[in-house]
Amino acid sequence: MTRWPDGSTSKQPKVSPWGAYGPRKSVKLPNGQYSTSNHQGTDFIGFKKVKAVRGGTVTLAGPFSGFGNCVIVRFTAESGSLVDILYAHLKDGSIKVRKGQKIQEGDDIGTMGSTGNADGNNLHLEVRYWTNGKLSHRDPVEWIGKLVKGSSSAKPVTAAPKPAAKPKKHPPTVKRGSRGETVKKLQRILVKRNHTMPVDGIFGGRTDEVVRAVQKRHGLTVDGIVGPKTWTVLGC
Ligand SMILES: [Zn+2]
Repeated sequence: MTRWPDGSTSKQPKVSPWGAYGPRKSVKLPNGQYSTSNHQGTDFIGFKKVKAVRGGTVTLAGPFSGFGNCVIVRFTAESGSLVDILYAHLKDGSIKVRKGQKIQEGDDIGTMGSTGNADGNNLHLEVRYWTNGKLSHRDPVEWIGKLVKGSSSAKPVTAAPKPAAKPKKHPPTVKRGSRGETVKKLQRILVKRNHTMPVDGIFGGRTDEVVRAVQKRHGLTVDGIVGPKTWTVLGC
């Protein structure tokens, strides 16, 4: 339903050092104008392509006083209020929408720029609520942040980590000199694989020879020790 103006559905883009919503010090801008002391929007930085945070109808696409090249997209909120999302200071010639067009969340709006009364390259974004003809602003970071979290599109961004595969339990390690059932099991497997050898549970010279041959064929360390790696190539 809603995303950040760089198109992300999870991570908030950076805000310029003086770009937070609300009261701030008025500073002289590169174009000689002074910035407003009550910032009605948020100045996002650090990306180029500006995407629609929400779908709606374009009501303005072009120069708009101190906002420079500006786009306004209107939609009706669940509360019934008309809401305008305003994207300001867009780069000259970069606006990708036209007045009257219906757009979707994530659509291209334009490129971040510094037209109008801008303190460098940034996207000044405003969330404007019209209630009974009266305009009030919202803090964009708070407003978008809440909706992004609540939207279904925010959830599948990071796939759930796969449960770690349980390590396979191999039979105990056996080597020359070992005796017993595990050695017998090993010998049975080797005999099944067409090696000629006794199945007596005694890891002697012939067993050692066959194990080393198997290890060599599978590119393992040829040491005659039947540990996890050798058991694995034997299917255990
Ligand atoms: Zn601003």
